Amino acid sequence: MASQDANLKTYTGGCHCGAVRYSIEADLSGQPKASKCNCSICLKTNRLSLTVDRANFKLLSPASLDEVPSYQFSTRQQHHKFCDKCGIHCFLMGSYVYEGKTYHNFSVNAVTLDPDQGFDLREFKVTYWDGKAENWAAGQMEKPAAGGCY
Ligand SMILES: [Zn+2]
Repeated sequence: MASQDANLKTYTGGCHCGAVRYSIEADLSGQPKASKCNCSICLKTNRLSLTVDRANFKLLSPASLDEVPSYQFSTRQQHHKFCDKCGIHCFLMGSYVYEGKTYHNFSVNAVTLDPDQGFDLREFKVTYWDGKAENWAAGQMEKPAAGGCY
C-alpha cells in the first residue's frame, strides 16, 4: 500500500536512452537519505541508493518488470535492473536474509532520477555500508569503508 505521507511528491527517472522509465513517490525535500556501498557491484556501478517503498514505484517503460534486464550473481537474490541499450543501472529489487529473517528491498539509483525536479543531489545525506566485508552490523557510516569511494 502506498504511503500517504503528505510530503511525498512524484519524481520521474530512467536510463540514459529512455528505454527504461519510472516514477516514484518520495520525499526529497531537505537532505534526503541515500547510501553507497563498497561491495563488488555497488562499487563498479557507483550506485547512489535511494530506498523507496515498492508500492511507491511505478514502471513507466517498458510495460513490465520482466522486460527490464536483471543482473544477478552470487546468491541471486538481488535483481540489478539495468537498460541493455545504454547500460545504466536504474533500480535494485530483491530479498535477503539477515539474522534468520527475510527482508525485501527496493531502491532506485538516485542519479537516474531526472534532473531539474526541485531536489539537489549535492544535498543528499549519503551514508556508507561496508558490504565488501559483509559488515552490515556496523550500520551506515559517515565515510566509505575500506575499498569504497565517495
Ligand atoms: Zn537505456
